[in-house]
Amino acid sequence: MESKKWGIVGGGMMGMTLAHRLAQQGHKVTVYESAPELGGLVSPWKMPVQTADGIKDIEWDKFYHVILLSDFYTRGILKDIDVDDKIEWVETKTGFYIEGKLHSMSDTVEFLKFPTLNLIDKFRLGLTILVASRIKDWKKLEKIPLTDWLKKWSGANTYNKIWLPLLRAKLGDSYQRTSAVFIWATIQRLYGARRSGLKKEMFGFVKGGYKTVIESFTNTLLTEGVTVRTNTTVKEVKTGADNKPLIQLIDDSVESFDEVIVTLPSSVSARLCTGLSPNEVKRLNEVEYLGVICVAVLLDRSISDFYITNITDSRFPFTGVIEMSALVNKDYLGGYALVYLPKYVVSDDPLFDQSDEEIRNYFISNFKNMYPWLTDSNLKFVGVAKAKHVITVARLNYSELLPDIRTSVPNVYIVNTSHIKDGTLNVNETVKVAETKLEEILKG
Ligand SMILES: Cc1cc2nc3c(=O)[nH]c(=O)nc-3n(C[C@H](O)[C@H](O)[C@H](O)COP(=O)(O)OP(=O)(O)OC[C@H]3O[C@@H](n4cnc5c(N)ncnc54)[C@H](O)[C@@H]3O)c2cc1C
Repeated sequence: MESKKWGIVGGGMMGMTLAHRLAQQGHKVTVYESAPELGGLVSPWKMPVQTADGIKDIEWDKFYHVILLSDFYTRGILKDIDVDDKIEWVETKTGFYIEGKLHSMSDTVEFLKFPTLNLIDKFRLGLTILVASRIKDWKKLEKIPLTDWLKKWSGANTYNKIWLPLLRAKLGDSYQRTSAVFIWATIQRLYGARRSGLKKEMFGFVKGGYKTVIESFTNTLLTEGVTVRTNTTVKEVKTGADNKPLIQLIDDSVESFDEVIVTLPSSVSARLCTGLSPNEVKRLNEVEYLGVICVAVLLDRSISDFYITNITDSRFPFTGVIEMSALVNKDYLGGYALVYLPKYVVSDDPLFDQSDEEIRNYFISNFKNMYPWLTDSNLKFVGVAKAKHVITVARLNYSELLPDIRTSVPNVYIVNTSHIKDGTLNVNETVKVAETKLEEILKG
């Protein structure tokens, strides 16, 4: 195959995967990343803690990440970059916070003891999960509003007491515009292990967190001859005089390529690429994103045994409580417990305009209400992470509304996580989109 010169805009898991697969096929690739390191949403951050010996930095992912046994695309990449032997697999527990109390919902017995639902409600909840896990043709579900589908299978009581608070927490008000594919994809992911013949589902993490993955991935790319340009923001992608795509940086320097793939969120890509048709710009801008505000807390003790605690109480600003240290051994976290408090909101939610201090105070006062034994002395670090473009809202007929990856600007493609049509947002689906869309592009 003819070797070509490719430019990749964005050095998250999508951009890194595209670069890796292209380099493997003998192409010459440059990745442009505005941040100081590759990684994007999976990047780590330092959490400084005051100890008797001075300030100590604990480093882990800025946003929480877990790998599933059934994440075969992610595991394929981890094998390629030689970190698959650094994955640890753990059986975790799930909790629910209902009417001021924590309940475990990790096995069938606990499910049967679960409060607020009567036996018929529980049967219908179990039936909903079973039905969703058996459906193969997700396309039909794209035409059905999520709320209608859940009410039909679960009934009003289970819908109001369990699904509605969970949907509001995960999707904000956009749950009303979302199709039934969302719940189908969520259930399919959770039952993916059993579907693919594995006996049970376990959660995994790479020792050292995604920092280990990013470092190995970066080294692999460099070894493969990929040019990695971090601290380099792309200002514009356009067509040059020779009809080849040009990448222009914020310092106005320009480089010419045979092919360019932009991996940024759809509306950002629409602004970046000059020469798109009005219809393409409209379609790209119509892709609706939810962002996330995520408060990370290091504590001197664990708060529960649960990796995820779902909250069905709308008093709390956060969606759930993710206790990373219920999965990751505290030895990897300097002996501390690490908890994330995420809230998913539309990209223009006023919460994004609040200062980190306001968000910290708002989340932590609610965290203390939830766990009344908590005092400030238990909290060793509190940090606020924000991302405006995270999950795309899977509206009715979503797959038909999506713009094509091949744009009208010659040899410029836009491939991003909005192309996850039948899955939830995660690294596995991101890598899958990168690999399948690249195959389409290379076939011509
Ligand atoms: C709170 C949260 C929890 C998650 N939990 C999980 C989980 O448990 N398991 C899981 O598998 N996945 C999880 N994910 C999803 C996972 O992080 C994403 O699927 C994945 O990181 C998406 O990668 P990406 O490359 O598409 O996007 P990004 O990581 O956003 O990459 C885009 C990159 O482009 C760069 N960029 C932007 N503008 C420019 C420019 N003009 N020029 C150059 N570069 C630019 C950005 O800096 C960024 O690095 C979670 C995500 C979040 C936010």
